Amino acid sequence: MTTTHPSTTAFAGPVSPSRSALTPLDASEIRLTGGYWGQKQRLNADVVLRHCEDWMERIGWTGNFDRAASHETGWEHAGIEFVDSEVYKLLEGMAWELGRSHDDDLAARYDRLAYRVASAQEEDGYLHTSFGRPWQRARYSDLEWGHELYCFGHLIQAAVAAARTGVEGPLVDVARRLADHLWEAFGPEGRVAVCGHPEIEVALVELGRALGEPRYVELARQFVERRGHGLLAPIEYGQEYFQDDVPVREAEVLRGHAVRALYLAAGALDVAVETGDDELADAVRRQWEATVARRTYVTGGMGSHHQDEAFGADFELPPDRAYSETCAGIASNMVSWRLLLQDGDPRYADLIERTLLNTVMASPREDGRAFFYTNTLHQRTDGVAPDEDELNARALSSLRAPWFEVSCCPTNVARTLASVELSFATTTADGLQLHQYGDYDVDTALADGTPVAVSVRSGYPYDGDVTVTWREDAGREVGLDLRIPSWAGSAAVGGPGEEPSTRVGRVTTVRRSFRAGDVVTVRFPVEARWVTPDARIDAVRGQVAVQRGPLVMALESTDLTEGDVNDVVVDMSVEPVTTAQGATVEVSRLTDDGDDWPYGRSHDSRRPLGPVDLVPYATWANRGPSTMRVWLPVAEEARPA
Ligand SMILES: [Zn+2]
Repeated sequence: MTTTHPSTTAFAGPVSPSRSALTPLDASEIRLTGGYWGQKQRLNADVVLRHCEDWMERIGWTGNFDRAASHETGWEHAGIEFVDSEVYKLLEGMAWELGRSHDDDLAARYDRLAYRVASAQEEDGYLHTSFGRPWQRARYSDLEWGHELYCFGHLIQAAVAAARTGVEGPLVDVARRLADHLWEAFGPEGRVAVCGHPEIEVALVELGRALGEPRYVELARQFVERRGHGLLAPIEYGQEYFQDDVPVREAEVLRGHAVRALYLAAGALDVAVETGDDELADAVRRQWEATVARRTYVTGGMGSHHQDEAFGADFELPPDRAYSETCAGIASNMVSWRLLLQDGDPRYADLIERTLLNTVMASPREDGRAFFYTNTLHQRTDGVAPDEDELNARALSSLRAPWFEVSCCPTNVARTLASVELSFATTTADGLQLHQYGDYDVDTALADGTPVAVSVRSGYPYDGDVTVTWREDAGREVGLDLRIPSWAGSAAVGGPGEEPSTRVGRVTTVRRSFRAGDVVTVRFPVEARWVTPDARIDAVRGQVAVQRGPLVMALESTDLTEGDVNDVVVDMSVEPVTTAQGATVEVSRLTDDGDDWPYGRSHDSRRPLGPVDLVPYATWANRGPSTMRVWLPVAEEARPA
């Protein structure tokens, strides 16, 4: 069932569709109270936002706006042409954070930055620091690579965050003037063109929703419809690189540059929802299905080509060549969240959990001061620790780096962590749905005013026990829907005063007229277990991974008494043992059998090493340079038939 919501919700999250099966919560209705996510969001507020701000100040990316506003001539632009977008993603993250917890220092920093951006806006609404001045390239002269509209999209999303959280400042007005300029430049009377990097689509729909302005949705619709008709000039990677090969509504699978493909899919679904275009929505659903079934890593990561940062062919998922960009993980969750709101299908929440915990959270280092851009599943040589004061080439560092020449990932992590809890729960007229587990409080009301005040507590993702405590009488019967993760398959669920019983499926519902003090208990089986790959994923055939609850495990050389991870095999006849935050498995080391040719023989010389620790993949390389692998070759005689 799809319900219609007012289109100009004052407070909302990043996505507020005018009709959906599930109603999202806003930042005043859900609050992290601690646990894994509470700690990560705190780290974001205390360290990551500041880290991004300081870096961009130091290397002149924020200074670009001052120079653009100064009317000096001939100044040199700092950074690659789309670095404006990083300042915008930081502003978006700051706005979500400010909306939750007003902090005077953060508010002052936000204000200064927002006004510096606003001061660079031109009379006609255009705002970009690397195009359009006499000594720079002309506006819209390089739509293939210039990323102008991509940058605008992030500015607009920052403005939406301000509007949705009630954070005051100039950005909403700036975004409105910019969007009006785009309507003139690219609308019905304007140039028929698209930007090489999608992002403006998803942003314009949300601005249209936030401000109740149908022209912005219409412009997004036109951008979506134009793509796939060869409007962008041919490039060496082919038109599929920017999804300009096949119209969105005809495509069967996501392809080309992964972040581009996913941002476009998110925008296309938003357009479909706002315009009632079921065919377009079905196209996005179909693309999601095919991509998840054949083009996604066990970590939820997407993209297996380094050269063009792109999806590979079906089942082309090499672990040691995984690109799996952090931003692609974030973009994948943007698509899944939009689909979840529309359909209520728990599979979307399942992929969000997998991707958040195993790709997005792999990016920030434990101290929040360095990030992975790509997320390999097999590091064959010891990573090299980058200089903490130097810019890194984006994919070259093998350990987390403090900042990159293309630094899309750190600021994307920042805005994601600042709003992460907004995808944890939703409501319908009938009740409350919990999609993600952690430690958080929900205080909201259903459409008829029925109060919903619950506290969710757990040791998630390490521990499978979750309690949901009602803090207020609901006053009528409501449903509490609990997602059962696909890795669990079942859960022991006890309603208030009940003995737990086993429930099987993807969702289970506890229905009651809940009273204050009622507790629902849930236990998911988080014990470590083997994960075997589809035989068509050639690159990992004959290998096995270990998953512990929602966490994909990895073997790091740090945990080996000798050597690296490359000549270790695992004994599958001994089940993995669950430890406090990881697992142990029995491994052997392949030994040199004197043969100098690695083909045409069976290598069976090996020496048992005994049990070794596996750690959550997302935490690898926090203990310094190491080799690492997720997929472990299976010792030959133990290999299943
Ligand atoms: Zn990125």
